[in-house]
Amino acid sequence: MAILEFRNVTKRYGKVTALKNVSFKTRDGEFLVILGPSGAGKSTTLKIICGLVNPSEGTVHLDGEDITKIPPYTRNISMTFENYSLYPHMTVFDNIAYPLRAKKGEFTENQIREKVMNVARMLHIEPLLDRFPSEASGGQKQRIALGRTMVRNPRIYLLDEPLAHLDAKIRVELREEFHRIEALQKTTTIYVTHDYIEALSLGDRIMIYNEGELLQ
Ligand code: ADP
Repeated sequence: MAILEFRNVTKRYGKVTALKNVSFKTRDGEFLVILGPSGAGKSTTLKIICGLVNPSEGTVHLDGEDITKIPPYTRNISMTFENYSLYPHMTVFDNIAYPLRAKKGEFTENQIREKVMNVARMLHIEPLLDRFPSEASGGQKQRIALGRTMVRNPRIYLLDEPLAHLDAKIRVELREEFHRIEALQKTTTIYVTHDYIEALSLGDRIMIYNEGELLQ
């Protein structure tokens, strides 16, 4: 189970107020979309959820527990960034395995292989596992980054404009695919976009942001 709640969260960066008194609560397992123009505070919301940024005011709760001051690495929340952030010197397999190996000793190499293969199958990137990210297309890189997010089995997925840099055809394909990925269906997912078609086609619910405010 994972229910994420913001209670009156405000975030200031110096003189800029990126979030103004934002409150919301997810439902368990839902696909919640944050829709809004550039600068609306969408990324800041995700960064606060995963703990990369601290709120200036207000609190964040996961399943009722106040996690506002808990460090990012203990939250078990997984974020995929817009720019993929893949390691260029590692194969696709090693990129996806990275979060599992980072937890030293928690998984055997056999378990890691099995988990990576499962995710690769789900995302149709098995043929790419021995290649390097530079040998993959934009759409494939996006799937690899998604694979690295999914392999951890986190409590919540955070996806920041994951389709933004892809061409229209691949965007439509991947959008359809998001509906079919079992892990995303079961796990609470918060998805950021400025594209209302994406928001309408993916979201169980949509939060509309503008200038740091949650409007609707
Ligand atoms: P979005 O993701 O909706 O485009 P952001 O959350 O990235 O919006 O940014 C919201 C506001 O906060 C913008 O005005 C942006 O310029 C500002 N901002 C974001 N990050 C920083 C930062 N590290 N320092 C100063 N201002 C920032």
